[in-house]
Amino acid sequence: MSRPRPTAGTPRRVGVYGGTFNPVHLGHLVLAEEVRERLGLERVLFVPSNLPPHKWARLPSGAERLALVRLAIRGNPAFGAVDLEVRRQGPSYTVDTLRALARRQPVPTELVFLIGMDAFEEIATWHEAEHLATAAHFAVFPRVGHPLGDPRLHAPESWKLTGPRRLRGGLRAWRTSAGTLVWLVPTEQLSISASAIRARVARGASIRYLVPAAVERAILRGGLYRRGATNDRGIPPRDRKGA
Ligand code: ATP
Repeated sequence: MSRPRPTAGTPRRVGVYGGTFNPVHLGHLVLAEEVRERLGLERVLFVPSNLPPHKWARLPSGAERLALVRLAIRGNPAFGAVDLEVRRQGPSYTVDTLRALARRQPVPTELVFLIGMDAFEEIATWHEAEHLATAAHFAVFPRVGHPLGDPRLHAPESWKLTGPRRLRGGLRAWRTSAGTLVWLVPTEQLSISASAIRARVARGASIRYLVPAAVERAILRGGLYRRGATNDRGIPPRDRKGA
């Protein structure tokens, strides 16, 4: 696998890919690899977010979802997994995660936050939205039903986006007043969703070829996503009121 090396004048750039990853699947991995390659990122860090415990299914804890991500990316030195948000318990704000990740980098690094167009359309409502542009660049990719569109329609006004600059490979880039960039990255999408995978496991259908083999084995061995199995605290649903 080719690993882009920074050339003189190009800063080290590291991607940050947040999500519930419940579970991580090939759609996530293909997307991360494509953005990494197209933007010349040195690495992509997967950051599973916390989720409230679920009532009836054997849903994995944050630590278990992180473990699945680790299995999924094993053997790819350009991918990493970060436990920041699952360790914090409770909700985490992206701006805080980006600041914490920036502090952790051993050498000067620019972070690039990977975000689907569906989420980018809501970006102005995020916590400290105006400061997000200071914390990272943004790589926006299309999602089903959310084609790439002018980011000025959604970004906070304080970002004062200027552009676009048209780049190779159909990329377009806008610049924020903080000097960071918002790239629109026209990626292909595998139509795989975590919710469809959970539904398949719950009804006993195969998830082979939708997730890496090691992830499939861990899900089946751990009895994750099985409908009617014990909940996060190990209590069978029939023993609980209102289950
Ligand atoms: P669900 O189906 O439960 O909504 P999801 O896979 O869409 O799950 P997340 O795990 O939170 O949800 O996704 C993490 C990130 O991956 C999000 O930015 C989402 O836009 C993106 N993503 C999800 N599925 C795909 C896919 N098939 N191809 C590319 N990106 C995806």
